[in-house]
Amino acid sequence: HENWPFQKHPIEYWEHIVTSYPKADRAKEWSRFYTSGPHLGGQNYSQALWTKDRFEELGFDTKIEAYDIYVNYPVGHRLALLEKHDDDYKVRYEAKLEEPVIEKDKTSGLKDRIPTFHGYSANGNVTAPLVFANYGTFSDYDALLSHNITIEGSIIIAKYGGIFRGLKVKRAQELGALGVIIYSDPADDFGITPEAGYEEYPEGPARHHQSVQRGSVQFLSFGPGDPTTPGYPSKPGCPRQDPHHNTPKIPSIPISYDDAIPLLRALNSYGPLAKDLGWAPGGLEYKDVKYNIGPTPPHLSVNLYNEQNYTITPMWNVIASIPGSLGSTEGVIVAGNHRDAWIAGGAGDPNSGTAALLEVAGALSKMTSMGWKPIRDIILASWDGEEYGLLGSTEWVEDHKSYLSKNAVAYINLDVGATGSHFEAAANPLLFDLLHELASRVPVGQPSEGKTIENSGWNGKIRTLGSGSDYTAFQDFLGIPSSDMGFKNHLQDAVWMYHSNYDSFSWMEMFGDKEFVHHEAVARLWGALILHLSSRDILPMNVTRYAEELEGYLARVKNGSDEGNHPSLEMFSAKGMQYDEEVELDVYGNPSSFSYSPPKNYKRHNGKDGDDGDRDPFTLKPLPHLFSALTAHASRFENSLRHLSSLIQPNLIPIQEPSWRNYLDRLILWRRIAAANRVIRRFDRAWVDKDGLGGGREWFKHMVFAPGRWTGYAGAVLPGLGEAWEDGDVTGWRRSKSVLEGAVRRAESVLERFREGCRRDGE
Ligand code: GLU
Ligand code: CA
Ligand code: ZN
Ligand code: ZN
Repeated sequence: HENWPFQKHPIEYWEHIVTSYPKADRAKEWSRFYTSGPHLGGQNYSQALWTKDRFEELGFDTKIEAYDIYVNYPVGHRLALLEKHDDDYKVRYEAKLEEPVIEKDKTSGLKDRIPTFHGYSANGNVTAPLVFANYGTFSDYDALLSHNITIEGSIIIAKYGGIFRGLKVKRAQELGALGVIIYSDPADDFGITPEAGYEEYPEGPARHHQSVQRGSVQFLSFGPGDPTTPGYPSKPGCPRQDPHHNTPKIPSIPISYDDAIPLLRALNSYGPLAKDLGWAPGGLEYKDVKYNIGPTPPHLSVNLYNEQNYTITPMWNVIASIPGSLGSTEGVIVAGNHRDAWIAGGAGDPNSGTAALLEVAGALSKMTSMGWKPIRDIILASWDGEEYGLLGSTEWVEDHKSYLSKNAVAYINLDVGATGSHFEAAANPLLFDLLHELASRVPVGQPSEGKTIENSGWNGKIRTLGSGSDYTAFQDFLGIPSSDMGFKNHLQDAVWMYHSNYDSFSWMEMFGDKEFVHHEAVARLWGALILHLSSRDILPMNVTRYAEELEGYLARVKNGSDEGNHPSLEMFSAKGMQYDEEVELDVYGNPSSFSYSPPKNYKRHNGKDGDDGDRDPFTLKPLPHLFSALTAHASRFENSLRHLSSLIQPNLIPIQEPSWRNYLDRLILWRRIAAANRVIRRFDRAWVDKDGLGGGREWFKHMVFAPGRWTGYAGAVLPGLGEAWEDGDVTGWRRSKSVLEGAVRRAESVLERFREGCRRDGE
């Protein structure tokens, strides 16, 4: 190979190229293209082809990989407040269920704009009393039950926020509700509200009162992907299962707060107040909403009608590959973004990320033409059907399962790339150090301004991955270290109208990322991550950091729950919904620090700290000991790496015409490097268990990371232990513990293999 074992230039040189290539102006044009028409999952073939053309123009081998996926498209809906007189129903309010066309926002006026609906919502036509359920979390429903509010036979109205929307519907269904309405309450807009004097979009930064958050109501934390093919790819003619193990049977619809007001007012003076249940009132009190719980009295009821066309239809992933100099057995780096949007626009979600994908592709192509060749293969993916439930990426991962678990090094996701200036990241701990290293160098805006991602307002926190985007199958199904990131709107920023028609190019230009500099910056970072992972001799992934984090996770379990990391909703409400600097938005615009609400209804273990001897059925023994031994092991491995790296250093000096002797030295050294890299690559795989989690979560195979079962977006760590603890399930606890013991031993033997190799080499 012409570039290996000696790169023509050191990595710093290529880092400069990859980070200086992305341009805000070009990103803006990509954004304009993708947001110029509807591109719903399975209805974006022209954009798939167009993306393929761009990749091919850049010189990449590209193909479209399609799957046949079970999915719904909207047909009709209706929501009305009915008043009964004798035997006659009168319509007291007919919900508009539409986002009006705005003169100043061209994309909001497209003829074929997509109706407001929920992905995977059930068909139905129900009329029932209405009950208000706050955020519709597990503990919110519990609060209703403990106040003897009848959920069975009611229609639930809940606010968006806190947890994944599908779980609001799941719990309502389990408790016998007939339907669910979910609306966007202005109290969750961080004070950027008309009540506080802000004008509404397009005049100002506040939410448009008729904006509606579409979105999937599949159950997410019970497994993503085509709900009819859990664990295997949706190929033509494949067997299909009943989809209802992770999709609802009761209808639901999303509405605006404008449509919610008459419904919530109908509850005024019926049943207790929100605050009687310990819930902070929403932001519509100034509109005469008192936030009573209900139910509505016998003369008032709500009619909810939802009609969806369920079909099996192709979805198209566009897959470009860049060959590495040593072939896929030395590893594959996968980087992906979804292309589909709920709406015509999607300037924030996902096409700010798609614009960055094309910029990264351009950068890599330019580098290739300048003589760069990565050591490892690179795959760039444009996923379809993410919005319905991570469909394209999950089916692809299930399809290429053995190839990926053998070869993949990392998966770097970018979904929402830019809706504001606040950088956020979530990742596998193996990638923490690299993210920090690069964020400290990658510039935001003109490099001469001296602003980097690290120093421009990032709090430096990297969260663990939960779910809600395309990294899920990589991380949780196969144990491929993954990351997710983006610049999000935060506190004082304009309200981003997530999954609404107003997540449009016009909004982006007027409010979200006016100069497209955050599109540019995130593309720089993404490119740099791909460069370093694909082209550094020793994989820049820190095994010791992982082991240390694991010890921290165990300590959290020992403290009884995950609450230390995710303050509960109750704690958040106690602050009177005062958002302060400590409140982080999650990747989807929800305040992440109240995204964890412990499922109180579960029989919680009331024991000691879980480690007071062998008599305690919930003892953690011997895990703490095993985990700290693993850290010690990992740091010894890290020492050998440092030594190895000191041997490589002289070789990093570019040599234009290396001698045979140089080649030979380097080849011998490479044997050791390759062995070290295999260790790093296998380290996350050690935590994968073929049986997966229990309780309907068998698709999730990773024993360290999973979406919280009642949060969806927010991640749980060591979920098997945490869930057994919450359930007071001693058998589950023991099983989880022994699975973890097996995993620690696997991780140790992965490390051990390298040391043995070194000893053999006389090290
Ligand atoms: N990112 C999408 C959402 O948050 C899809 C999540 C899913 O359904 O898996 O709605
Ligand atoms: Ca599948
Ligand atoms: Zn998205
Ligand atoms: Zn989305």
